[in-house]
Amino acid sequence: MSNMFDVVVMGAGTAGLPLAIFAADRGAKVCLIERGPEVGGCLLINRGQMSGAGTQLQKQRGIDDSPAKHLDDVIRISKGTTDRAFAAMAVDLQGPFIDWLMENGFEILDDMPRIIHGHEAYDIPRTYWGREDGRSILKVLKPMLDKHVAAGRVVVKLHTSVRSLIKSESGAVIGVETDTNNERILARSVVLSSGGYGANPALHSKIHPGKTLWSGSYHLAHGRGLELGLGVGGVLVHADKFLPGFGGILDHTLAVPRYRSMGGLTPQDRPQWEVVVNARGQRFYAEDCGSVDQRAHDLAQQPDGRAWVIFDETIKREAPNLFYYFNREKTDDFYKRNKGVVSAATLQDLAAACGIDAPGLGKTIADYNVAVGTGKDSLGRTFMPKKIENGPFYAVAIFSYTVRSVGGLKVDTGFRVLDQNGSAIPGLYAVGEILGSMISGAGAVGGMSLTPALVFGRLLGEKLLPI
Ligand SMILES: Cc1cc2nc3c(=O)[nH]c(=O)nc-3n(C[C@H](O)[C@H](O)[C@H](O)COP(=O)(O)OP(=O)(O)OC[C@H]3O[C@@H](n4cnc5c(N)ncnc54)[C@H](O)[C@@H]3O)c2cc1C
Repeated sequence: MSNMFDVVVMGAGTAGLPLAIFAADRGAKVCLIERGPEVGGCLLINRGQMSGAGTQLQKQRGIDDSPAKHLDDVIRISKGTTDRAFAAMAVDLQGPFIDWLMENGFEILDDMPRIIHGHEAYDIPRTYWGREDGRSILKVLKPMLDKHVAAGRVVVKLHTSVRSLIKSESGAVIGVETDTNNERILARSVVLSSGGYGANPALHSKIHPGKTLWSGSYHLAHGRGLELGLGVGGVLVHADKFLPGFGGILDHTLAVPRYRSMGGLTPQDRPQWEVVVNARGQRFYAEDCGSVDQRAHDLAQQPDGRAWVIFDETIKREAPNLFYYFNREKTDDFYKRNKGVVSAATLQDLAAACGIDAPGLGKTIADYNVAVGTGKDSLGRTFMPKKIENGPFYAVAIFSYTVRSVGGLKVDTGFRVLDQNGSAIPGLYAVGEILGSMISGAGAVGGMSLTPALVFGRLLGEKLLPI
């Protein structure tokens, strides 16, 4: 195959894979360029929670749902900040996409779909995920890609970074240059599907000045595609919608350590026995608050977006596992080896070890213990099963952490990258997280990063036909 393609795709991740597959299904010659050692992007590490309405699975379980109801929920959870045109497109496509995955061997957990509370909850069970999280989706897509590669319709270049875009004299984008021997790859359409910038602190602070980045993102999410799109006249949108996640812990046990949820701070899933304090030793929200967006917002306001979960030996022994997503072995390992988990004989020593104001922490715990006795908490918490009084005491550091980037390129509904005047930059398309928080808006709507990346990738792939 020559270096002239119908489509060149920057990033073989969640959006890039279906794009390449569905474009190749229709006869397009595709070059898929991936910076990492394997294809998959976020699918290699994410929870893989998708959402979709009107699916066969819902029908089998007698769940009455529709794209219109899904859209209503997206509007509600995003507090009216979603881009309705794109959200409407996404919800129409997502149910059928999940059916398609099922038809193609998607290994789903038994009790799907569910209502989940890691994000503000939908009104109807419409969240689905596989036995191996995001990798279950990859297990469906990868053989399809391999078939196209074997047939010569798709060329995959791993360990290869797109460095720049090639423009024609008329200003159209006509290809890319990579960091491998400055190779130039020409195509009729160039698609940026290189994900977000959550692993690039410098770009993060340029886009979100003053906002701390505790990164839970894919480690190759460096935002190069976004920079390239902006460099040829694209426009940055949604950057004002920064909402980090609530309560990530640094997981050293992962192949590439990053911040991630421990799961145990969602009151709907696990009752809260602990208190959460900031560096001043003060509580700043009612720990049984059911709104994850509220908790996320409150944590983000604390110095450095950081706090500590505080409890004592009795709570450690009697409460359900704080590391709710972990098995016993991993939890024990965390208590023993993780720097973010500290224990001390006294509250004073605990405060000193964490860098928390000791008098502040002492007063907070004393006040909380009184509230446990009276049942009246100054922050309005109602579930207070035990005082915190029997050492050793424990502190688990939690962070306002980022898994997805909210700033992105402006596109039209054909995913053509737009310039300041609203005109499409010829030849240039973008899809996936590089579009920023167009659907979740200023909220975080369950499954509405991953599933739109998949369905918009597919949709664009179906449109970029060979001549
Ligand atoms: C830990 C985690 C959990 C998540 N869980 C969920 C969830 O359950 N539900 C949900 O809706 N969303 C979730 N998300 C968000 C969602 O996974 C992402 O927004 C979505 O998968 C992004 O898809 P993408 O194709 O845009 O990017 P990616 O899947 O990241 O793919 C981009 C690809 O581009 C490659 N690339 C980058 N730069 C270059 C370059 N210069 N040249 C060539 N290639 C390049 C990358 O290596 C990567 O493979 C999660 C994110 C994370 C990090």
